[in-house]
Amino acid sequence: MAEDLIGERRPLAGFLDADGVRASVDALRDAFAVAPGVRVLHTFAAKAASLVPVLRLLAGLGMGCEVASPGELRLAVEAGFAPSRIVLDSPAKTRDELRLALALGVAVNADSLGELRRIEELHSPGSASVLGLRVNPQVGGGAIGAMSTATVTSKFGVALHDPGARERVVHAFAERPWLTRLHAHVGSQGCSLELIAAGIAETYRLAEEINERLGTRRVTGIDIGGGLPVNFADDEARPAFSDYVAALRTAVPGLFDGRYDLVTEFGRSLLAKNGFIGARVEYTKDAGGRRIALTHAGAQVATRTVLMPDAWPLRIGAFDAEGSPRTGPPMVQDVAGPCCFAGDVVAHARELPELREGDFVTLYDTGAYYFSTPWAYNSLPRPAVYGFAGKAGRLRFATVRDAQSLDSVAAESGLNHVNALTGLHAEA
Ligand SMILES: *Cc1c(COP(=O)(O)O)cnc(C)c1O
Repeated sequence: MAEDLIGERRPLAGFLDADGVRASVDALRDAFAVAPGVRVLHTFAAKAASLVPVLRLLAGLGMGCEVASPGELRLAVEAGFAPSRIVLDSPAKTRDELRLALALGVAVNADSLGELRRIEELHSPGSASVLGLRVNPQVGGGAIGAMSTATVTSKFGVALHDPGARERVVHAFAERPWLTRLHAHVGSQGCSLELIAAGIAETYRLAEEINERLGTRRVTGIDIGGGLPVNFADDEARPAFSDYVAALRTAVPGLFDGRYDLVTEFGRSLLAKNGFIGARVEYTKDAGGRRIALTHAGAQVATRTVLMPDAWPLRIGAFDAEGSPRTGPPMVQDVAGPCCFAGDVVAHARELPELREGDFVTLYDTGAYYFSTPWAYNSLPRPAVYGFAGKAGRLRFATVRDAQSLDSVAAESGLNHVNALTGLHAEA
């Protein structure tokens, strides 16, 4: 491990494999290239790794960007994505956000018929924005409820099987010639390929129905979302993008016949396996017969794993202070973080070589939604993120994000308003 990047004075950092990201993008593109006539815009879901240098790398590789907040839109623009390659999705867009998106010309997927009415008010015929409507095919949930967006009562999209809903959607397209795209994102981690493909098949059938009933090719594009699950159990990227394309071709053969432009929005499957967290073991202790390693990686960088340990288990690596793998006999240990709540444990009763003070642990497959999405609990600073490329012994590194300073922590915590409350009283 490079001592300048992680050590006693810098006990936590995130690492990203730049060549790995390039290879993942190649795999995605190759998988969808099976049907040559189809135009596909692959966008990266910014929330999965909301770091400008990551977005810039992806923009340079020809990707587009899916954003779901004003902040993500700003990052995408700063990273250099052309507006025509940006897609805005989110269930609570304000009028101001919509105005900006339409002025920039980024694609917008309305999440509801109510939002469609707002877009109608704000839309000018000159806007370059491609406009779509998100539907919820209500095909059901996967293994993780919080990640399942196509359940019967999901908050996302127009619930297609609700009484009258399908008719209202067809009507919405009939009335609005500028509405040309359907969008569905069936779920993320925990959803099977078959479930996701079933949701896309429902969306495709709706596109066909709209076009048939309107007697014109009104729906010209289908945004199939992201959601390919990631294998956290070992090094293999499985399922592969090609497995997903095969499942789609089985469930929805017409999707690839070139009549519809396609948009994808993958996040986790492009980045997760291309990153890891490194953290120093500050102390070890025994409690009730259990060995505990107290490290600097906890809920602030592994929020989902700590709060939902059964749904989000992570592989842990054990290294000595010099960065060589620890090879001792396995010993049952908890790997805990620095946050002040008892559940702040990233691995419970895990068999690992005995960890000692000054060692390092690695949390694998954390390139998406982990260190890039920190939680400010305990005023812990955001850790630095480094990119790397090359082979062991000849690795090159670059700073992707600086570690947060304590000045910044204080500023984010209202330092500019330090006396805001001491002088605030009800009127006498
Ligand atoms: C989160 C999200 C994605 C990306 O999901 P992954 O599981 O990271 O691939 C894509 N589209 C929408 C609308 C999302 O909310």
